[in-house]
Amino acid sequence: MTDQDYLALLDRAKACLPETIEGHERFALPELDILQEGKITVIRNFIDITDKLRRDPLHVLQYLLRELGTPGNVEGRRAVLKAKLSISQISERIQEYTDTFVICSECGLPDTHMNKEGRTMVLECEACGARRPVNAKKSSKANTSSELRAGDIIELLIHDVGKKGDGVGKMNNYLIIVPGTAKGARVRVKITNLSGTTAFGSVTQDAATR
Ligand SMILES: [Zn+2]
Repeated sequence: MTDQDYLALLDRAKACLPETIEGHERFALPELDILQEGKITVIRNFIDITDKLRRDPLHVLQYLLRELGTPGNVEGRRAVLKAKLSISQISERIQEYTDTFVICSECGLPDTHMNKEGRTMVLECEACGARRPVNAKKSSKANTSSELRAGDIIELLIHDVGKKGDGVGKMNNYLIIVPGTAKGARVRVKITNLSGTTAFGSVTQDAATR
């Protein structure tokens, strides 16, 4: 897929997002401002991101360094990672951090803080009062079996229709856009294209291949 295809896909995906999904399910972080300098990758707005997450920049940095397997440090408002990394590698790790250490698993809001209780870190939600140990949530690595790939055939409930009239369904963490389907329909869908956690599919009569 070329960059242009990718951008076109993203635009289309955004146009398809029903407002219910756009409104509260995605906690939006500032867009990553990445600078590549040879074998060094700089996140220029690192502190903007950790401010928005309301987490200690060093905690976020440690997580990134461990997950990305690279040395690095915070310099001013920037994080300097000593490896050549793509934006998607970094943004996926930040998303994982957010899911694990920030988002309340009960209500989905990011209004949480961490408390140390004995040897356990507990995530406490200021919005709904839910509490959970921070490691209890499955990391996305444990979920690889639920990853979608192009060519997969799935049963999908179309639960909404996007602004351009395409049906939209959700499975696992994926938003799946299926042109030509109506709200409430149960369809057999072949995944044709993926971009992050947004997928495009087409209605198919093929039997599911197992
Ligand atoms: Zn909550």
